[in-house]
Amino acid sequence: QLKDNTSIVVFGASGDLAKKKTFPALFGLRKMNLLPKDTRILGYARSKMTNDEFHDKVTAYIKIDEKDTESKKLLEEFKSGLTYVSGGYDGEDSFKNLNDNLTNAEKNNASSGKKANRLFYLALPPSVFGSVSEGLRKFCYSESGTNRLIVEKPFGKDTESSQQLMNSIKANWSEEEIFRIDHYLGKEMVKNLLVLRFANVFLDNQFHKNSVDNVQITFKEPFGTEGRGGYFDEFNIIRDILQNHLMQVLSLITMERPVSFSSEDIRDEKVKVLRTIPPIKPDETLLGQYVAGNDKPGYKEDETVPKDSNCPTFAAVALHINNPRWEGVPFILKAGKALNEGKVEIRIQFKDVTSGIFSDIPRDELVIRIQPSEAIYLKTNTKVPGLQMSALPTELDLTYKDRFEKAVIPEAYESLLLDALNGDHSNFVRDDELDTAWKIFTPILHWIEGKNGGEKPTPDSYEYGTRGPKGVEDFQTRFGYKRTPSNYKWPVTDLS
Ligand code: NAP
Ligand code: NAP
Repeated sequence: QLKDNTSIVVFGASGDLAKKKTFPALFGLRKMNLLPKDTRILGYARSKMTNDEFHDKVTAYIKIDEKDTESKKLLEEFKSGLTYVSGGYDGEDSFKNLNDNLTNAEKNNASSGKKANRLFYLALPPSVFGSVSEGLRKFCYSESGTNRLIVEKPFGKDTESSQQLMNSIKANWSEEEIFRIDHYLGKEMVKNLLVLRFANVFLDNQFHKNSVDNVQITFKEPFGTEGRGGYFDEFNIIRDILQNHLMQVLSLITMERPVSFSSEDIRDEKVKVLRTIPPIKPDETLLGQYVAGNDKPGYKEDETVPKDSNCPTFAAVALHINNPRWEGVPFILKAGKALNEGKVEIRIQFKDVTSGIFSDIPRDELVIRIQPSEAIYLKTNTKVPGLQMSALPTELDLTYKDRFEKAVIPEAYESLLLDALNGDHSNFVRDDELDTAWKIFTPILHWIEGKNGGEKPTPDSYEYGTRGPKGVEDFQTRFGYKRTPSNYKWPVTDLS
């Protein structure tokens, strides 16, 4: 645990992620009294900025009520502990200068004399991960204390580039010191998956091919690339969402019970299940790209996007798990931008009731809504109250905001930064886990980009603000999904 005499250095401190997530999360931890008072926070990037400009920049997204004088005071205190150092991402001088800054601050610190710990956070494009991690190891490594390195996605573009990137960091840092962030692992409902499954016998027993017909893991975003198309076009929706975030969710809902809650036991089980999944097939893939609709521009109208781009902004894929628990159950992962709504959910659909006594009875479904508004509901058939003997789909409902009225759900980045400070790897991506996930996706990524020598596929178009390409419903049906009939209403106000 990094407690006394710790420095946190945020690389790329002039960037988007730093101001939107990293610094607000650090302040959140300070507010919750989870960051020791003498922790020093240093921003580092090439841009020239005064300390005041830096403070204004990285606190712009921290919203405090005018009347909340205590938080305002805390924010001023927080700012006074933030320092900015400008420098490059390679070359000895920059790193030596940073090291001098750190050493001086450590000497003047209230806990000076204790071991000096350093946590480096790379909120940077991966093109400089190699040089920065090398410079840090050579010139900024604390010989007396613990050193840790947090890196952000994207971790490569396919199996090969990911291995190269991993090796460039591992040349200087041990796996024990590296924390690869997938911020979905910091989300409350994703963290709940282990408890939900392994602390509830009635649920975990049903997570099995004998009961489950199909599983959908869905990410829907109601907006398009809006000016960030240049970045997106290189990565596409598969690298942006499916290969990392949705695969993390998939491994948590399908893994076997870990021997313990230790990070290595959990990650061992995640890797084990991922290794049983064969690469996705092109003919089990549906690709889409949004065009103008609902008064919003199409993807290719974004000036930063090449006019002949075949980049998918929507993708649905089917995965199969070849192990005794899940054999034969299709897992549909789907994600898209510029859709009709914003949500992330897991939908486990159970098998049909054996025929004989009911006709047309809907299937049960367990829905775990990760965002917005965390909820778990089990769509359950119930007798309609009254004298008639008929059934109606209803739900056993755990809506977080009703059940935990006063609970404050932490931001994913708060949770992950705290884990990294505590040295807990459970919610970070291990090297073999990353490699296995890339192997599942690399063949379809190469197919989409024409890297196998074949013609690039053209994604189906869909209008901005719709559910995706027209084929999405057929795709869900092809892998077994049967939609609950339209008499399912929530909440039920009228039983007639
Ligand atoms: P960003 O704003 O583009 O870059 C962060 C900083 O890195 C910039 O302020 C810039 O600082 C430096 N930089 C930019 N391009 C560079 C280049 N080609 N070579 C060297 N330095 C460069 O990126 P970001 O949105 O903050 O994201 C940082 C990392 O987190 C990226 O890997 C991104 O994919 C990942 N990420 C971002 C988000 C998000 O919400 N933004 C979410 C998940 C993951 P100076 O020019 O001042 O040095
Ligand atoms: P739903 O929104 O009806 O969606 C169920 C499934 O049907 C999803 O796979 C969805 O795919 C698909 N689908 C949606 N619209 C479709 C369409 N027009 N044609 C074909 N397929 C379509 O979800 P639900 O679970 O039955 O719930 C109904 C509503 O009640 C939702 O708004 C839900 O949030 C709400 N509810 C809330 C709670 C709670 O907050 N505690 C509890 C129960 C129900 P896509 O996901 O790809 O669109």
